[in-house]
Amino acid sequence: YMAQKWRDPRPLDVNVVNKIAAGEIIVAPVHALKELIENAVDAGSTSLEILVKDGGLKLLQITDNGHGINRDDLPILCERFTTSKLKVFEDLTSIGTYGFRGEALASISHIAHLTVTTKTKDSNCAWRAHFSDGKLVPSKPGQSADPKATAGRQGTQITVEDLFYNVPTRRRSFRSASEEYAKVLDIVGRYAVHCSGVAFSCKKHGDSTTGIATPANATIIDRIRLIHGSPIANELVELSIEDETYCFKVQVFTSNANYHVKRTTLLLFINHRAVESSSIKKALEQTYSAFLPKGGRPFIYLSLDIEPSRIDVNVHPTKREVNFLHEDEIIERICDEVRVKLAGVDRSRTFMTQS
Ligand code: ADP
Ligand code: MG
Repeated sequence: YMAQKWRDPRPLDVNVVNKIAAGEIIVAPVHALKELIENAVDAGSTSLEILVKDGGLKLLQITDNGHGINRDDLPILCERFTTSKLKVFEDLTSIGTYGFRGEALASISHIAHLTVTTKTKDSNCAWRAHFSDGKLVPSKPGQSADPKATAGRQGTQITVEDLFYNVPTRRRSFRSASEEYAKVLDIVGRYAVHCSGVAFSCKKHGDSTTGIATPANATIIDRIRLIHGSPIANELVELSIEDETYCFKVQVFTSNANYHVKRTTLLLFINHRAVESSSIKKALEQTYSAFLPKGGRPFIYLSLDIEPSRIDVNVHPTKREVNFLHEDEIIERICDEVRVKLAGVDRSRTFMTQS
């Protein structure tokens, strides 16, 4: 070990800072895609088409039919902390949209080649722009960086190419494209189940079959059937709770006592954002253990809406985790209800086999 020679502390170059920040938010292609899906849904889209090459490392493209972006807003689109969704800190307590930090597109532009093609209802053409390190850049050296008029439908297409091209250690850390594609399908599948009224498709580049295809008008059970199969969709019970004490609403489709697999699938949404929660997962597994054979695990879709002032989405830049008030009480209330449902289904089954 050799100690480094002592140097005067110096401020880091702003592009280095931005690259570090980007790498913290976007660890793998799936994290970029999740941000792009949330943006498209925030824009009121009813159709999202996703195209993926090399697990998203070569290409991630998402085409939506939402409200689009004004041509005049394009030059600042990828500047850090540029957002149309949040103005003052207090807005964080009433935020209804997925995004709020204005960090996703900025981050992506620091670690990938980013192209945006977009058309609003009032524009008579679409506009295409290329971004690097937060700024507009020309598509070819020597050309102007200004957005170019082009043909296109209303909505936005975001193309992310060569993710981590300038972060070689990260690029090398990916073992296989199919592993990354599996993560992509997982997140698309989650939103495809959750977002009623939105059609989803996800395809691997050059593949004739689509990985995921759900129509806009499908019910939640049908969406689960399309993505997870009939054996699961046929064994679901539904329950919902509206609780005034802790100000939450929950909708659940969960497998009954006749169904079990080796690993829990928990499609968890809190205020319409896909999140993870080991405490909710553990509590539900515990509840099911009384009804399923040893080692058997459930399938659960759970959408929890909490009054925004009771929730803290600002725990981490990735927004993968959220904190909320009265977590224990809310989880207990949900598990009680699940228990009642499972006991009910179980009893009717015993009754049927006896008669
Ligand atoms: P945030 O979502 O936190 O605002 P982003 O960097 O994800 O930050 O997006 C920046 C802004 O770009 C958004 O606030 C929105 O105005 C615009 N935008 C991004 N994606 C889309 C889209 N698919 N359709 C319309 N507007 C979009
Ligand atoms: Mg966003």
